[in-house]
Amino acid sequence: MTRSEMREQHIKLWTWLAENPGKSKRDWPGWYSLGITNYTNDRWYNRCFACAAVWHNGRPGCQKCPIKWTDKRSDEQRELDAANPQPCVVCELSSAEYHKWMNARDSGNVTIEVAIALKIAQMWPEE
Ligand SMILES: [Zn+2]
Repeated sequence: MTRSEMREQHIKLWTWLAENPGKSKRDWPGWYSLGITNYTNDRWYNRCFACAAVWHNGRPGCQKCPIKWTDKRSDEQRELDAANPQPCVVCELSSAEYHKWMNARDSGNVTIEVAIALKIAQMWPEE
C-alpha cells in the first residue's frame, strides 16, 4: 500500500468512526476488505494508517507522523521528549485530538466524539 493509499484509507476509517459512535478502530470493516487481519504484524499493531506510514524498527516514528496533532507542550518539554529514546507519542498527549476522541468515546460524549473523528479524518494533508 502506498503512502497516498494509506492517507485515503485513513480518511475512510475516521469517517466511518464518525458515522459509528462508540466503535473503535478495530471494529472498522475495512481492515478485512484490505486483508489486514494480522495485527501482531508490527506495522498494523496500532490499527492506524499514520503509524503504519512511518513504522520503523518495530515502532511508529512519531516525530514523522503525517498528522500534525495539536501539541501544547512547552518548547523545553518537546526537546526533552525528543532526546528520550522512546518516541514521544504526540497523538496521545492530552491536548491532541486522538486523546480527546478516545475520552469522548469512552465517556459517551457523542457530539464531541463525532466532531473530532471528522476532524482527524481531514488532518492528514495531501502530499
Ligand atoms: Zn497512529
